Amino acid sequence: CRVINLASYRFRLSVSFSFVICCTFSLQYYYKMSEHKSSLNISDFYEHEDVSLEYIMENVLYVEKKDDDDSEFQHLEREYNSILLNGCDCNSEKINCIKCLHGRNYKWLSEATELVLDVDKCEDLIYECSSACKCDPSKCSNRLVQNGPRAGLKVVHSNIFKSKGLISSELIPRGGFICEYAGEILSFKEASKRLKKYEQILDKNYILFMKEWNKNQVLKNPITTIIDPTQKGNIGRYINHSCDPNCEIRCVRIDCPIPKIGKFYCNYIFLRTDMVKNN
Ligand SMILES: [Zn+2]
Ligand SMILES: [Zn+2]
Ligand SMILES: [Zn+2]
Repeated sequence: CRVINLASYRFRLSVSFSFVICCTFSLQYYYKMSEHKSSLNISDFYEHEDVSLEYIMENVLYVEKKDDDDSEFQHLEREYNSILLNGCDCNSEKINCIKCLHGRNYKWLSEATELVLDVDKCEDLIYECSSACKCDPSKCSNRLVQNGPRAGLKVVHSNIFKSKGLISSELIPRGGFICEYAGEILSFKEASKRLKKYEQILDKNYILFMKEWNKNQVLKNPITTIIDPTQKGNIGRYINHSCDPNCEIRCVRIDCPIPKIGKFYCNYIFLRTDMVKNN
């Protein structure tokens, strides 16, 4: 019989916040301009205890004052208001999208009765199926992050870490999806402004810099996504940073060129971790 690797009950979830992910992929964006309108049906019943924080179910573009000639912001806005059009044509009666053009990264774990990240095989960029696909959502094996965070997560205060943290009251299989790290999508300019501000007024920093690049073009045109859940965020903001993490971060694209940052349980040390400088 096959043994599945489960997280111990009430394990604190942690992730390494400072790293570069190196992917082999060729990004092909086929998108059209539109107002940003999510077609996702995210199910998320968590909320913040602190009423001064705004709970959001997925990333939002920051809205602070910007210069009219801020080309970096304009690019970000264009991406945010775009929809990926590269859907698949899977319409078989069998379970869909196991081997389709953007499937393959998830697998069905019958022991845990859930779809999980195939952590040993998943190297490529993750594209989930969306409304651009012909597959039946109820049979598709390529829709996970878009369904929202897993049940059983709980925010606790830790005296050891002197901060809040996230635990799971249920066992989590290896590769199990925890939640998105949702927050405000920032430009570099805005992120460096906020980092300075947070250094002065807060003793912690939640801003995540995620860099993706093609293995064959290291350091050439990496794609950077910057997420700040300090004021607007979801349950993902309570996952602690650790140099010995038990969760893994992956960029997941669904209907928007700007990826969602998905957190998956992965009870081994990252195979690759590197420091990312903020600027
Ligand atoms: Zn498909
Ligand atoms: Zn599809
Ligand atoms: Zn599908």
